[in-house]
Amino acid sequence: MQADLKNLYSFQGHFTFDLHDLAAIVLRERQLSDRRFNRARLLEICEGETATAKLPVTAQPIWTSFKQSNKTGFCLGVEMNDAGEPPLEMTEFFDPEMRLPPGRAPLTSREKEMIYWRIRHHDSGYVLCEVLQQVLDSLPKDRTKLRIRTSQGHTLTELSPDAFHIAEVAMVPKFCTLTCVIQPRLEGYIDIKEHVFGGDLQPIPWVYLLFGDSSVADEDPAKDGRVMFDLVSPLLGMQGLGGELFSMERLADYHDRVLPTGGQEVINYNDPRSAAHEGYILSGRIQHVSSPELIPIIQDLATRVLKRLSRIAEGEESYCSYCGRRDSAVLKVQETKVLWRCLSDKCMEIS
Ligand SMILES: [Zn+2]
Repeated sequence: MQADLKNLYSFQGHFTFDLHDLAAIVLRERQLSDRRFNRARLLEICEGETATAKLPVTAQPIWTSFKQSNKTGFCLGVEMNDAGEPPLEMTEFFDPEMRLPPGRAPLTSREKEMIYWRIRHHDSGYVLCEVLQQVLDSLPKDRTKLRIRTSQGHTLTELSPDAFHIAEVAMVPKFCTLTCVIQPRLEGYIDIKEHVFGGDLQPIPWVYLLFGDSSVADEDPAKDGRVMFDLVSPLLGMQGLGGELFSMERLADYHDRVLPTGGQEVINYNDPRSAAHEGYILSGRIQHVSSPELIPIIQDLATRVLKRLSRIAEGEESYCSYCGRRDSAVLKVQETKVLWRCLSDKCMEIS
């Protein structure tokens, strides 16, 4: 299977990819290919004891029996016979009549982005890590380099695309989330799909990629130059230190400043036991983690990303480095650095 993926990258010359851009492209392709929520609109957000108005009376116990005090409920609706339609864009995701908890101010555009990905990243941590693993391991090492610049200005250059480990910590999330997707089936009948995250407040495995080789690693976290890359941060309510919808930060910054905003590590990574037990664990690659039904999803996403990277290296594709859209009208926004943004208000505002 890896051999097949390698053939998708047909560019023969040398090219350097920016990890930040790769994140935007992976997230965009995930948006387009993940079918679980692709036609769902957010109808209601509930918090704590707020009652839900969108679940049918007979289904209300789904929410009320969920006892954690720090709970958030999202009710999404899909219209009947809507399944084969193209995915909704983020701007269409929030129903104009969406109900918020009492007293809650209208959502800012940043809050909307965080909520959108908090819902859509459900159960996606290992999926996206495995996609990245397959993509990076398929790029030709002799002709491809990675460049990383964190929000705090820490830079790694000339990195081999396979210079990463898979890392895991055990996390107790700060909050739990119940997402219900309501879909009419026949006249008078509905299906409700429930997705629970962090429901029992037990430790969950949290997975990310750790970039950098032995030349930048150091036993002293303050000097360790390796960079961790977590694409699903909003699932724990976290964002990058520069406000990104993912985290790409030095190891110490991630563990000390990002992770605590989403929950509690069960064993601190400074604890020597972490290397051998629960807590901070490094592994070579994800193997046999995926459920069989996820394998085609992971392959499809890796294929989409590799084809795009090949076209980008060939100079055949322009893309927005914020939202990852391809071939949209883009503008070069910094003369000193190749940085492209599409002309949507949101993406230009970020630039
Ligand atoms: Zn854009």
